[in-house]
Amino acid sequence: MKTIYLDNNATTRVAPEVLEAMLPYLQDYYGNPSSMHTFGGQVGRRVRQAREQVAKIIGAQPEEIIFTSCGTESDNTAIRSALATNPGKRHLVTTRVEHPAVHSLAARLAQEGYRLTELPVDSEGRLNLEQYARSLTPDTAIVSMMWANNETGVIFPVEEAATLAHNRGILFHTDAVQAVGKIPIDMRANCIDMLSLSGHKLHAPKGVGALYLRKGTRFSPFLIGGHQEKGRRGGTENVPSIIALGLACDLAAQKLTTENTVVKELRDKLENALLDRVPRCRVNGDRVQRLPNTSNISFEFVEGEAILLRLDEYGICASSGSACTSGSLQPSHVLRAMGVPFTMAHGSIRFSLSIYNTEEEIDFVSDTLPGIIEDLRALSPYWEAGDALCARGEG
Ligand code: PLP
Repeated sequence: MKTIYLDNNATTRVAPEVLEAMLPYLQDYYGNPSSMHTFGGQVGRRVRQAREQVAKIIGAQPEEIIFTSCGTESDNTAIRSALATNPGKRHLVTTRVEHPAVHSLAARLAQEGYRLTELPVDSEGRLNLEQYARSLTPDTAIVSMMWANNETGVIFPVEEAATLAHNRGILFHTDAVQAVGKIPIDMRANCIDMLSLSGHKLHAPKGVGALYLRKGTRFSPFLIGGHQEKGRRGGTENVPSIIALGLACDLAAQKLTTENTVVKELRDKLENALLDRVPRCRVNGDRVQRLPNTSNISFEFVEGEAILLRLDEYGICASSGSACTSGSLQPSHVLRAMGVPFTMAHGSIRFSLSIYNTEEEIDFVSDTLPGIIEDLRALSPYWEAGDALCARGEG
């Protein structure tokens, strides 16, 4: 059975060119990039090239890039660094819809005694910038606000938010793990101090990421060890993956137009087909300020997990907006923050496309899913009850 992979916000396939570029650095060129000898030196040169490639996709300078092991490490490093370099300030600002890499760290910091503001979002997943501006105080050390949401694809106005923070002398970090390679980013045009990105979201392998640190920003390392990354992140570099990340960034920059035309059209085609053919479903999140590859759709009165299992029988991979925690199905914190009603939130599915998806795949999913939803609803007592309410105009 052919796999139809529509779960690219979870992870992406490694691009064939990327795999080819990294393999020699696992086999033949295994030198340490810090070594004095020529054998290591040639590896060091490739790491420098990768740093330039990563810098280029976000309009940064190579020395502003610190290689890390993942997006989570970049997020943790940025936030902990801001707090360590501002010991007199005890307040941090994030949003209610951050990825756990920020959300759970923020909760931990609150336990450690920091004051935490988690900004709410509206029913479309959007932020209120005035409310955000009011949350900034002289005691605020850092704002951490995601560029684009991993579940809904909703894009936050991080550049404006960074300016508001800067005017008050507050550091600004953005988790751009889902944004880099999908929308244009130019760090020369904003005053964001730190930005996180991750390789496996843009067709490089898992286990490599980067932190952008604006020149002149005070920094406290998270991993303390050797002199690697100019003393900003100890540990021998993951050379093959760093080289892969560099090339993946180059390729993503070249494919940015495809992402925003071809991929977006396929996403819209899928979304419109499902909205047309399936009664009582809706898109979660702002449909305009959104990543071109992401669609989060709720199918009322069906369990997301049940839909995923049925899709899996056809080789279709997607994600659901609920996670099984302590035996009960809890809708995701993102959908809850948006106030998506329970009957909708439970049946939410995230489709996330990539440049490798084809129109045939999208047509197949559009033809298959309506029947799956109909079958599942036929088994659901809630559907009958909901339908009756709807017929009486109460649903
Ligand atoms: N931030 C966002 C928005 C993400 O979507 C993810 C991964 O899903 C991460 C951070 C974590 O990245 P990594 O898996 O590289 O640690």
